[in-house]
Amino acid sequence: MNYYSTNGKAPQADLKKAVVKGLAEDRGLYMPERIEKLPKAFFDEMKNMSFQDIAYNVASNFFGEDVDADALQDIVFDTLSFDCPIVKVEDNIYALELFHGPTLAFKDVGARFMARLLQYFLRVAPSGAVGGSVNVLVATSGDTGSAVANGFLGVEGIHVYVLYPKGKVSPIQECQFTTLGKNITAIEVDGVFDDCQALVKSAFMDEELNRHMMLTSANSINVARFLPQAFYYFNAVARIQEMFNVQRSTFNDVVMCVPSGNFGNICAALFGHEMGLPIKRFIAANNANDVFYEYLQTGKYNPRPSVQTLANAMDVGDPSNFARIYDLYGKSHERISSLISGATYSDQQIADTMRRCYQETGYVLDPHGACGYQALKDGLRPGEVGIFCETAHPAKFKEKVDQILGTDIDIPERLQAFMRGEKQNVEMSKDFQDFKQYLLKQ
Ligand SMILES: *Cc1c(COP(=O)(O)O)cnc(C)c1O
Repeated sequence: MNYYSTNGKAPQADLKKAVVKGLAEDRGLYMPERIEKLPKAFFDEMKNMSFQDIAYNVASNFFGEDVDADALQDIVFDTLSFDCPIVKVEDNIYALELFHGPTLAFKDVGARFMARLLQYFLRVAPSGAVGGSVNVLVATSGDTGSAVANGFLGVEGIHVYVLYPKGKVSPIQECQFTTLGKNITAIEVDGVFDDCQALVKSAFMDEELNRHMMLTSANSINVARFLPQAFYYFNAVARIQEMFNVQRSTFNDVVMCVPSGNFGNICAALFGHEMGLPIKRFIAANNANDVFYEYLQTGKYNPRPSVQTLANAMDVGDPSNFARIYDLYGKSHERISSLISGATYSDQQIADTMRRCYQETGYVLDPHGACGYQALKDGLRPGEVGIFCETAHPAKFKEKVDQILGTDIDIPERLQAFMRGEKQNVEMSKDFQDFKQYLLKQ
């Protein structure tokens, strides 16, 4: 399958090029030239299938032409070494818990898949086109860095540079990518997330740098990172169908609510919908960084600098994947706003929601999941069943969560292990020339 650029000025790429390059030459995002519907038989059978089998079917639909079937199955099964269960929070509201992976956030799924796919392409062509050694640049607002760093840790022939905004990620998040060593370098940028993202994008566009080293991106702009996130949306609907089998005859009233920042996660859900996944409508939940919410209301997309919030992984002022969503629906505001509605919450509202949900249901939300949960509370209509993504484990934000809830929540062992490590990082200004000079010396 070929991939075209959302900016329409770069040549089409095959999967390998789209994955290795990450971003098209014209700075656009790669899009698959077509999205095939999965067959009816698959949807009829889905609720009897395992998560891994469902995921393999979805993966084949996208990657089947370009990756050997056995290898693809291994990649999918190996990626999903943990579950993404549906948990009932209250009547008609379910959490899709995406934090059971190694770094306790949903980004583990895409990062693990991409690391394995990139390794597959390097193995298939150990020299020549790919060149045998790849440098992954990744900008993070918190959770991407740890997921990508851990997804690639120890993978031969790949070096990862994690760029993160100084003082803007939680200490627990930070230790998950600054303590790893080996093929992982953490770069602390004196700026905000958007500065980190701009440095990465500029690096890809810089000819001299690209002659010096093979660069790729592992941000959600990479097709190998965002598409696999569709796996758990299919599984979520399958598990709801399975659960409701005895009680309801139709299951066409599922509302999927995704706490969104760079919009990669919801974008994968929308691709799933295009593949035929029965989801009635979507809600994109924002924190105070709500340019998408504004777009839905006004039809105007006005990116602006991000502001810092309690839900810091969603502090994005110019979501990259907006370009994909815009393209997917033919640039039609009407189509987009009839399928997706928005919600926006202040830090005060997020904290109130966390407190109320804990008191009323006993469920501990993290600040990101809280936006999703509240958007369902505010937006669910009679007869609908809402699923919101619990995108990270609350312990990743332990200080804030404990302070808000008056709790002392447990830290899972795999998280404690990171906290015992020694922090190593490189300090960097937000000036691209500094970053470039640093990379040229590597
Ligand atoms: C990255 C992240 C988000 C936002 O996801 P996008 O794909 O960037 O929209 C939400 N919650 C958590 C915990 C995250 O790490």
